[in-house]
Amino acid sequence: MDNIDQYLQKFKSIKRSTCGTINIDPLQRGGILTDEARAALVEWGDGYSICDFCPGALDQIKTPPIHDFIHKALPRFLGIDEARVTNGARESKFAIMHSMTKDGDWIVLDQSAHYSSYVAAQRARLNIKAVPNSGSPDYRTEADGYADTIEEVIRESGNSPTLALVTYPDGNYGNLPDVKKIAAICHQYDVPLILNGAYSVGRMPVNAKELGVDFIVGSGHKSMAASGPIGVLGVSEEYSGKVFEKSPTNKAKEIEMLGCTARGATIMTMLASFPKVVERTRHWDEEVENARWFSSQLEGLGLVQMGDKPHNHDLMFFEAPVLYEMSQTAKGGRYFLYKELKARRIHGIKAGLTKFFKLSTFGVSRDDLETVVSAFDEIINP
Ligand SMILES: *Cc1c(COP(=O)(O)O)cnc(C)c1O
Repeated sequence: MDNIDQYLQKFKSIKRSTCGTINIDPLQRGGILTDEARAALVEWGDGYSICDFCPGALDQIKTPPIHDFIHKALPRFLGIDEARVTNGARESKFAIMHSMTKDGDWIVLDQSAHYSSYVAAQRARLNIKAVPNSGSPDYRTEADGYADTIEEVIRESGNSPTLALVTYPDGNYGNLPDVKKIAAICHQYDVPLILNGAYSVGRMPVNAKELGVDFIVGSGHKSMAASGPIGVLGVSEEYSGKVFEKSPTNKAKEIEMLGCTARGATIMTMLASFPKVVERTRHWDEEVENARWFSSQLEGLGLVQMGDKPHNHDLMFFEAPVLYEMSQTAKGGRYFLYKELKARRIHGIKAGLTKFFKLSTFGVSRDDLETVVSAFDEIINP
């Protein structure tokens, strides 16, 4: 093997080239730090800094006020009995699946589910059956599909699925399915329901009790203005003993949390942003209004917004036959759109995509959205 030293030079000045751009990357919009979180990141950056006064487990730390966050503020915010922080939405899902099931059980999820829901279920050694969506152009997940798919699992395996999961919204089209109805259907079959709110918790009002779900999952770096990786997990009273079972050998530590989860700056950025995150969910109607305005502007330029219409979320998927057509002859080929946007300091549509792509308007000012619309107009009508 060659020497390590030749690689070290690369790590000496690491810069991020996208600073100062208008960012419309759906993955990143909701995870942009507040000023408070940016300060916390520096203050609490040392490893294990939050453990100065730990009484035995992360969720019990009183200074800084992690106990009040996890046991008081967070469950109220999520509308559920018990909450924890994890290292991400996927870790939250895995903790539920692993504690609630045994090898070979079945889980029913929506076809629009995120890959991490599949991987979490696979790690928990579950069989998976998906509720089909309606396909193009709406990609709707219909509540009745859950009844059909649960019936299918019963027919094929002889047993009900152990869990169901719904993605709210899904990470491609930004569709918000009728969760109340899905929960009612799952409960008719005694199947507890997980709400994957990676794109909703921290952006819009979401209340597990009101929606009727048994578990709720969120992502700090996706939607709660936190530096990741960090997630949240809410569990109803009925299942909290199971999911948060303590270790027989280390009595302060919860097994599914592997003792302690977000043990550093990640949780401090989540805490520091939390007041503003709570506040921003109260202005969700303005976000939806901006998204709809933006969608109508791009449709006016010949793009087609897929998914729910009128749209109810900032995450939107567009088909752009006009841009695809242009890419066939443009300099740079399929990278031309990325380059044109980059030249206008706009970042976030995946390089190489023209035919279809997703983007987010979350927290982007109307001025900046107008700049993005003008950019598309200039590119399409030079
Ligand atoms: C981003 C995303 C996730 C993954 O979140 P992590 O916190 O990174 O694990 C899960 N589900 C959906 C729908 C997502 O969009």
